[in-house]
Amino acid sequence: MIPNYDVIITGARCAGATLAISLAEAGFQVLLLDRAVFPSDTLSTNTFFNNTTALLREIGVLDQLLETHVTPVKIIKFQFEDTVIEGPIPKVAGEDTAYSIRRTYLDDILLQHAKSTENITVIEGFRVTDVLYDKDLVSGIRGENRSKQKLEYRARLIVGADGRNSLVRKLVNSQLKIKSPSTVAVYYGYFSGIPHDSEPKFEVYKRKDKMAIFFPTNHNQYAAVVNFPLENKSLLENFKEAPENSLRQFLMGNFPNTSIADRMKDSTLTESIKGLIGYENYWYQGMGKGWALAGDAVCFKDPAMAQGIHDAIRGAQILADTLIKNNWPAIQWEKAAEEYQQSLEKEFMVRFYMGCELSKNEPITVQQDAVNKMIAAHPSAVEKFLGIYNYANEPSDFEKELGRIIDSIS
Ligand SMILES: Cc1cc2nc3c(=O)[nH]c(=O)nc-3n(C[C@H](O)[C@H](O)[C@H](O)COP(=O)(O)OP(=O)(O)OC[C@H]3O[C@@H](n4cnc5c(N)ncnc54)[C@H](O)[C@@H]3O)c2cc1C
Repeated sequence: MIPNYDVIITGARCAGATLAISLAEAGFQVLLLDRAVFPSDTLSTNTFFNNTTALLREIGVLDQLLETHVTPVKIIKFQFEDTVIEGPIPKVAGEDTAYSIRRTYLDDILLQHAKSTENITVIEGFRVTDVLYDKDLVSGIRGENRSKQKLEYRARLIVGADGRNSLVRKLVNSQLKIKSPSTVAVYYGYFSGIPHDSEPKFEVYKRKDKMAIFFPTNHNQYAAVVNFPLENKSLLENFKEAPENSLRQFLMGNFPNTSIADRMKDSTLTESIKGLIGYENYWYQGMGKGWALAGDAVCFKDPAMAQGIHDAIRGAQILADTLIKNNWPAIQWEKAAEEYQQSLEKEFMVRFYMGCELSKNEPITVQQDAVNKMIAAHPSAVEKFLGIYNYANEPSDFEKELGRIIDSIS
């Protein structure tokens, strides 16, 4: 059967839209499908660091994103028990600003950019239900459009950029490579009337087994995110029965030596609270004969890392590069699959394991507390510590800096 397209992508948010743009710019004919109709929200607290800002500028959508009444953030603040580690966001590719842009804006602006790119056909409101095979080669998809019409499309490559619960991943039997369950529940809400902590910051507070994350988002609102152990059943029940009260009590009652309670007191919740009760960090096989996965479909790590959007965009670019370099359309699937997997692992595996550690939500030990105090007292250590989170440097650079400081003290 003659394919209609070079590539069909299921899922049109960060991973799918970026992949479509990268491939179309290289001359591929792309069909981009999503069951959602945009603008559309999704379960995400939508914050990204400056490494993502750099990617969005490169794609050509940053200026438009910055017209969405969003607050620029240039400072990261961690407070572990009573120790504050705070500093300017280390630069990445010349960018020094983080943002929190609601997905109704971010995904829609990316998708509009894809729609205006030659060689891309977009169908919204299209639910993919099956993948089609020619012998062992994946060669198409079947699905249903908004008018309940059942349709089939064929392509040389079928991509699942369809998120954490990827159907494409299941239908192509992608192999699970690593799995690490989280032990926490996450809840978040958007509030108006929360003043900044002296200036806009990305704020993370950790006390015993509880965590709170605060950051300004569009239209002068704040996103407030909390997490706590799943085994705390009574707290889970409270959140299920009375989400707003529980979130407020959690934030105002658990972080005494912070400004949170004071800043929350005149706030108004602007939409219903959302939550995620337990999740898995995972890594799947990313490519096989006639298929590939991108974004959360291939790898998911703890949302507290705030790198899911980045990794979805950057991972999609890596997939596009792999296809272009591998003699498309005369691609050798095994060779390309190996290259794709290796490139993803090289770029993201270290942070994936960091995400797995974060998901364990272990209280801060006495030794860790001593290290935190040492970091806080040395600006060079603060910089390298913060740089782990926005990919400005590797964890090994931070360890080297700590070693240097210890040597200089002893
Ligand atoms: C609670 C929570 C908070 C988070 N907070 C952050 C954060 O602050 N910062 C950050 O960087 N990351 C965050 N993340 C992670 C981030 O949201 C994801 O990593 C990112 O959205 C992945 O993008 P994606 O394009 O791979 O998938 P998604 O954004 O999940 O998009 C998948 C798309 O596929 C479509 N789709 C699925 N199945 C089908 C089908 N059968 N047919 C047609 N279409 C289909 C869906 O409609 C959807 O539009 C968070 C995640 C969670 C769960």
